[in-house]
Amino acid sequence: MVRGAGRRYDARVVTAPSDRDRAIADALQRWFGFDSLRPLQREAIDAALDGRDALVVLPTGGGKSLCYQLPALVQDRLVVVVSPLIALMQDQVAGLRLQGVPAAAVHGNLSADARAELRQLAADGSLRLLFVAPERLFHAEFLRWLQSRDVAAFAIDEAHCISQWGHDFRPEYRRLAELRDTFPGVPFQAYTATATPRVRDDIVAQLRLAAPAVLVGPFDRPELCYRVLPRQDQVAQVAAAIERHRDAAAIVYCIARKETEALAAALRQRGIGAEPYHAGLPAEKRTQLSADFRAERLHVVVATVAFGMGIDRSDVRLVVHAGMPKSLEAYQQETGRAGRDGLPAECLLLYSAADAAKWRTLMLRSNQELGGDPEALAAQLALLQQMQRFAGRARCRHRSISEYFGQAYDETDCGACDVCLDELETVADGHVLAQKILSAVVRTGQRFGGNHVIDVLRGSKNDKVVARGHDRLPTFGVCRDEPAGRLGNYIDQLVDDGLLVRSDGEYPTLALGDGAMAVLRGERQAVLRVPKQALAARGRRRRGDRSARDAHELSADERPLFDALRALRRTIAGELGVPPYVVFPDTTLEELAQRRPRTPAELLTVRGVGPKKLEQFGERFLAALAAHGATGTA
Ligand code: ADP
Ligand code: ZN
Repeated sequence: MVRGAGRRYDARVVTAPSDRDRAIADALQRWFGFDSLRPLQREAIDAALDGRDALVVLPTGGGKSLCYQLPALVQDRLVVVVSPLIALMQDQVAGLRLQGVPAAAVHGNLSADARAELRQLAADGSLRLLFVAPERLFHAEFLRWLQSRDVAAFAIDEAHCISQWGHDFRPEYRRLAELRDTFPGVPFQAYTATATPRVRDDIVAQLRLAAPAVLVGPFDRPELCYRVLPRQDQVAQVAAAIERHRDAAAIVYCIARKETEALAAALRQRGIGAEPYHAGLPAEKRTQLSADFRAERLHVVVATVAFGMGIDRSDVRLVVHAGMPKSLEAYQQETGRAGRDGLPAECLLLYSAADAAKWRTLMLRSNQELGGDPEALAAQLALLQQMQRFAGRARCRHRSISEYFGQAYDETDCGACDVCLDELETVADGHVLAQKILSAVVRTGQRFGGNHVIDVLRGSKNDKVVARGHDRLPTFGVCRDEPAGRLGNYIDQLVDDGLLVRSDGEYPTLALGDGAMAVLRGERQAVLRVPKQALAARGRRRRGDRSARDAHELSADERPLFDALRALRRTIAGELGVPPYVVFPDTTLEELAQRRPRTPAELLTVRGVGPKKLEQFGERFLAALAAHGATGTA
């Protein structure tokens, strides 16, 4: 039998594992330029080649698309991919085309050119991957046409959209089950990153998956460094985080629209080119911002949660939560947008217990507007409480997240979270400071909120302070040198430790909690913490079990070369009208900068470089590498 790139693999005839191994390895190298599979990709591919239904749950960036793309190529048959987002569909098609894969998309706004091309590919039978928006699938003419094709499988991307328990329910997904009767015997493979068992069960039921292979990957993202730091000076802390990832993509999430505008303006004043994004902006403006971000013309977006769905720029190196999200599910999803290329990225949450109070107020209000279902409200508040527990406790973040989503976590030191990296230090005179704060709360009668207590502590003679005679209290001005933001955070810490109690509602007030008197009498030590000054851009190490995703940190003399390669990638992407990451992902550019291949053959051994991309871009990248070698940076 002839072995080689063009060899056809027919799952129905060839079943010996060694043949399959070889067919998969060949296709992986030929079409993708990869030399190994990631966890569960093989199992998912096997299910597809065996013609089985499957449910594949892998975290964002886990490599789900390869699981349905590769079987189409190995079998030389058509796989229909249902996907909810047109922009993503188009990027995937553009990427596959660059790899030499005959792929097309069908959706509402196809250009005439695209339509002609699709007809051509369909007519000569070479089409391997067809992306379809769910609402388009059910056009009678389209369905008839599809029935006349040899469809190997339906791959349902973002399958959680079918479940109303998921975070992104799309009613049009509900009809997908009808396809089971239209295409009897064609297997369905569902893909999602959503973790909860309830959603998983719902997908299996709704899609009528029959004895599916259920493959659930690890939810942990070892390449993400999670930090939860006390919010003490928001603008400075966000700016410092962006500085740690200079020239890289960053998303900063705020709770409210007007916060995004204020924070973006403050960052711009510091010379950071940040843009605000929220649902209140005109549609054209939002489209423009998304396009700029994808094309790497814009790097820092300060947004509400309205930003993110459909943004799959894979080189986001930083996700900041300037305020606490309302659940760990939301946190996991938003932080999941960092490091999709598998390279290290940072997720920073600036925590203040006041955010929880803000959320409680918002939840109460919107619950009342919706008719006041007490169960729904209780569920939301419970999720919020879990989030606050996560943020307020000094416990390994990777462990906490894994366990929250029902998976055991074996590492004792993740090396990639603020707790394991030991990034908080205790304040030297913390006990005395805590006593001053508690005593100010007592002296003002336990009837005021944090801001008033802070005004008293810092000795500000404003009207409210003077009118109450609080400028004559012994605690007036005892913390003159502490910035207000930091005092606010100390109050949060005392609330988290139960030494202070904050009431709910629009105007929360502070009162003493259990143990506060013991602290005031000196019978119990209170501890206050601050983040250490210098934080590293990356975690100390990453785990070995996903070594395929690991790359070494770029050294100082590799960095300029990496930047030059990135500029070349941006130029090429501009010429082709595709987002830069589909030309090459950052992982490939990093490897190029580190290994500096000099010949086409050497270039082909770099992960992410297949024959087709070699042919199209090889010369220009080799020239850039050579030019860099000539000027010499070492
Ligand atoms: P998901 O859809 O699960 O979020 P993707 O399919 O977008 O993830 O894959 C994330 C990144 O990982 C992409 O850049 C993809 O090319 C890369 N990738 C996938 N599988 C492999 C592999 N076996 N080896 C190297 N890179 C891979
Ligand atoms: Zn940890």
